[in-house]
Amino acid sequence: MLIDIVNQYDSEKKQYLKDLWSQVILQLSTQQDHKKIVAFLSKAWIINIEDNEKKVYIWFSNEFVMTQAKKIFNKSLKESIQTVYNPQYTIEYIIYPPFSNGSDLLIDLWNLLNIKATENKKKSEPISKSLKDELNDYFGILFDPSFRFDNFVAWANNQFAFSAAKAVAENPWNAYNPLFIYWNVGLGKTHLMQAIWNEIIQNNPDKVIIYLPATKLVDEIVWALQHNKMSTLMRKFDDVDALLIDDIQFLADKDKTQEIFHNIFNDFQSKKKQIIISSDRPPKELLHIEPRLKTRFALGLVADIHAPDYETRIAILQSKLEIKQESIEPELLAIIAQHITSNVRELEWALNILLTRKKLSWSEITEDDVYACLQTLGYSTQHHMSTFDAVNQNWKSTKNFDTIVEMVANYYSISVAELKSDSRKKEITTARQILMLIAKKHFRRTLEKIWMYFGWKNHATAIYAISNIEKKLKSDEDIQHDYQIFTERVEQ
Ligand code: ADP
Ligand code: MG
Repeated sequence: MLIDIVNQYDSEKKQYLKDLWSQVILQLSTQQDHKKIVAFLSKAWIINIEDNEKKVYIWFSNEFVMTQAKKIFNKSLKESIQTVYNPQYTIEYIIYPPFSNGSDLLIDLWNLLNIKATENKKKSEPISKSLKDELNDYFGILFDPSFRFDNFVAWANNQFAFSAAKAVAENPWNAYNPLFIYWNVGLGKTHLMQAIWNEIIQNNPDKVIIYLPATKLVDEIVWALQHNKMSTLMRKFDDVDALLIDDIQFLADKDKTQEIFHNIFNDFQSKKKQIIISSDRPPKELLHIEPRLKTRFALGLVADIHAPDYETRIAILQSKLEIKQESIEPELLAIIAQHITSNVRELEWALNILLTRKKLSWSEITEDDVYACLQTLGYSTQHHMSTFDAVNQNWKSTKNFDTIVEMVANYYSISVAELKSDSRKKEITTARQILMLIAKKHFRRTLEKIWMYFGWKNHATAIYAISNIEKKLKSDEDIQHDYQIFTERVEQ
């Protein structure tokens, strides 16, 4: 039982859990009202971390507080834990009657949050309150006021998308319609979409501009269909002057939603109302989306970007530090930028983890902290480097295999760490097997090097996996489709 577990903790373990909880609270306090945090979380604590289940157990003193906390913080609390601890972990909420030893894990939130209080006041909120409220009421969308053009770092490879976004934001209805922007996760789609939204609203306060994640659009349509409210929903769209749909790939397999969206899309086009779409891949690579929709998307301006180069990664880290009015030694930033190569969100996560650590320990960040943080995020660090270097030798592609691994992980929306884990989940197994085939065919890897890369103890697993995927490749259309896309990119 958990109570007994706490009794067995030594003081170091207790301190560790307390520190982690403090980091989580500090992270949460960047998004949530401090009073609410104190009201609902001051008597809660992290009681245990289950690595097998990838769960962080949070203890609450009573059911009411727990239910409220879940309601108020659920997503942001989970995200805070994922940011400061590990992106793959989720929360388990539990209640136990008060017991003496557990309160050793309690921290003084008032005290902790006062450290942060002055910093939060600096944030300004640039978007029009009334319109935002109106939209929130109807669609319940959360906006991040920090997603603006002025803090979006543009680099050579995303200059085109950036300029297109800016042009549409400054001159909607007349620039490009539709605008379709795509690239991998964590490279700023949502940031750019909301920046466009912010700018259009500011310049056109009388217009109705709606930003909708595609998942939200699906929910709205499903709800309207179930409750016979389709005409009300369509009337709402009649009032809209510009529509931004984020992550359109989530319309996959939602036939009815696609049909309705197709109608909305046509209506917008005929009335010359602006549509802006983001996606994690180009129109023609969208899976399980009606061809006629893909064709329509492709007719607009399609803009993509590639991951930032090393200098840009450093520039992004520095820009984020400037916003936070913090600093970290350049040598340490270099280590981060060398490891995290294709995901800006993870660059930010790394900074947040390190800055929280610095705040809590009142001491400067060290190289060890940086490596520990990179490992938390699932990156292999110096320690493992020699194996990777060995695997990286003699590749026939100009691309680095790690880049390909990241690309495949992003494509399937899984993390690199999951890919290299021994998880047997179907999409992870498939992604891993496809990667092995790419390693074999395009990087001329020997089987030995392939299984070394995935950290397997015996190479029979690799032989089995490769023959399995070769078989599937002959019959499974989805796999053929994906594999073709990857090979095109490997050979680019
Ligand atoms: P996506 O929607 O593509 O998955 P996001 O827009 O959510 O990615 O970006 C992830 C994080 O990285 C955000 O905090 C965002 O501010 C930051 N980010 C991404 N690209 C940039 C950039 N070019 N300049 C500054 N910050 C960026
Ligand atoms: Mg996004």
